[in-house]
Amino acid sequence: MAKITNLNELFVHTLKDIYYAEKQITKALPKMAKNATAPQLKKAFENHLAETEDQIAKLEQVFELIGEKARGVKCEAIDGIIEEGKGHMEDIEDDATLDAGLIASAQAVEHYEITRYGTLVSWAETLGLDQKVIKLLSGILAQEEATDQKLSSLGEAGLNKMAA
Ligand code: FE
Ligand code: FE
Ligand code: FE
Repeated sequence: MAKITNLNELFVHTLKDIYYAEKQITKALPKMAKNATAPQLKKAFENHLAETEDQIAKLEQVFELIGEKARGVKCEAIDGIIEEGKGHMEDIEDDATLDAGLIASAQAVEHYEITRYGTLVSWAETLGLDQKVIKLLSGILAQEEATDQKLSSLGEAGLNKMAA
């Protein structure tokens, strides 16, 4: 990691971190949709894939607004979370249990995203960045929160019980 000396540089670094993460997530979601058994869960992953592609475009707008090149930096955290999810897909043989595992893995991803976007919005406000930047990042944060809630309700609506 290049030396970071102020909050603005840390903001840019974190933006690159989440940009990398979103790209990894677009590779993971199709596999999760393919492995999901319950049609509502499959649909939820497919919908969030479309949203994630749109989030990447929104992040590119943010990079442009702050005059930085859109570039990712390797995020060990998201790589680890995705790797763990892959483990579930390989190791769980029962369909309903796999769905419960996929929900858990997907929520781990959403929670990572929620912390990153929450921080980015807060720092963008502190740094007095363009309101457009704050709006774009808050918009993505709201999508991640809605996805997390959707996954919780799918779990509570029966997918977890079917696994029990
Ligand atoms: Fe995302
Ligand atoms: Fe990271
Ligand atoms: Fe997400």
